[in-house]
Amino acid sequence: MTPSPTLLKYARQNTPRYTSYPTAPHFHAGIDGDVFGGWLGALDADAAGSLYLHIPWCREMCWYCGCSTRATTRNEPVATYAGTLLKEIDLVASRFAGRPRIAHIHFGGGTPTILSEDQLSAVMESLRQRFDVLDTAEIAIEIDPRIFTASLAHHLARLGFNRASLGVQTFDAGVQAKINRIQPLETVAACTEALRAAGITNLSFDLLYGLPGQTLEACRETVTAALALAPDRFSVFGYAHVPHMKRHQKLIRDEDLPGAEARIEQALAIAEAVQAAGYRPIGIDHYARAGDDMARQATAGTMRRNFQGYTTDQASFLIGLGASAISQMPAGYAQNTADVASWSRAIESGHLATARGIAQSGEDRIRGEIIERLMCDLEVDPGAIAAQFGGALEQADLDDLVSDGVINRQASRIAIAEDYRMLARVVAARFDGYLQANAAARHSVSV
Ligand code: SF4
Repeated sequence: MTPSPTLLKYARQNTPRYTSYPTAPHFHAGIDGDVFGGWLGALDADAAGSLYLHIPWCREMCWYCGCSTRATTRNEPVATYAGTLLKEIDLVASRFAGRPRIAHIHFGGGTPTILSEDQLSAVMESLRQRFDVLDTAEIAIEIDPRIFTASLAHHLARLGFNRASLGVQTFDAGVQAKINRIQPLETVAACTEALRAAGITNLSFDLLYGLPGQTLEACRETVTAALALAPDRFSVFGYAHVPHMKRHQKLIRDEDLPGAEARIEQALAIAEAVQAAGYRPIGIDHYARAGDDMARQATAGTMRRNFQGYTTDQASFLIGLGASAISQMPAGYAQNTADVASWSRAIESGHLATARGIAQSGEDRIRGEIIERLMCDLEVDPGAIAAQFGGALEQADLDDLVSDGVINRQASRIAIAEDYRMLARVVAARFDGYLQANAAARHSVSV
């Protein structure tokens, strides 16, 4: 499908991904361990929360990687990290009077499965001791199929893991060579089979478009092969080329990257294929089978967006553990230092490792809710949300989006047209009170 001139016009704009509001570039050093400790102490004892554990280690770097991680071939740094993580769990849990209820746990990275089976057991045991992990809790982990075994699948199942997302990206061997991630279809198929055999049947695949050397045909072949493995969900992301921020991306040659039009064609081709196979589009870049929780929540308008992207997690707070992890609290956001050595020093000396963050103002809450509903539901009534929060908001300038047909406006309600769902970031950016025109360059292209 050839992208329309309107889609092209807006898709090139650089916008935040809106996994938080205010977005991370506006975090500042005024939010430190003392402030975050106060926020933890003020949490409602009856509220259920979520935990995110960040494991910033991989066996080698994929050149497209945008995550906070580093490569190591040795096991010692990972073991040391796991030991410090246990201390951070104790440190954070000690700020609560009781054992807070936990409804979701997510292990991300990096490569969480770089932890040994014993290390994973120790972390889960510590979490269950210090927190009241609900029987119904979703316990999810990100998986690199290249370092995965059937034994690990059974071990994860024994520990209570019930959801896994697999980094698939592309099955094209030429593209894999250009991104330093050699991962044949058989590897992903074996990983999928091992997880299902162990009883972990809620599976999500991550696919990428816009990679070096990637063609429309390569995208179609990848999505066809991925569909044959029948995951419950797909997340489909455009490669964000930011070599000024991620130095290893300099190994990707600019001239190998598909242009703006080709990127959109690839995104549209993948979207078309997964929808033809019966998956429902969710927000801007997720797809889920009809019976899946995410599809149900999308229909009900209750889906959420947090640092992991779209989520069914309804918890009122999320605590991030590990270097660079971000906590999302009722009062605002707090991020641990991304430097593993500094994080380790803080925790080992008995201090929270918070390095930056931001407290949400009343206006931030209104704008944040409008942006979250737009990103999740693709429609919103900004006036109603402002009133619900007991405030008011200046009217956003949306005239060009209305006249170009990107959004439909009826009274105070706006809805993104189905053909332009990929532009939700562009529409959301109009409600961003911090986004300066000259700061947009810090963000990736919208599609
Ligand atoms: S395995 Fe994942 S986190 Fe690690 S370098 Fe590759 S893309 Fe990044």
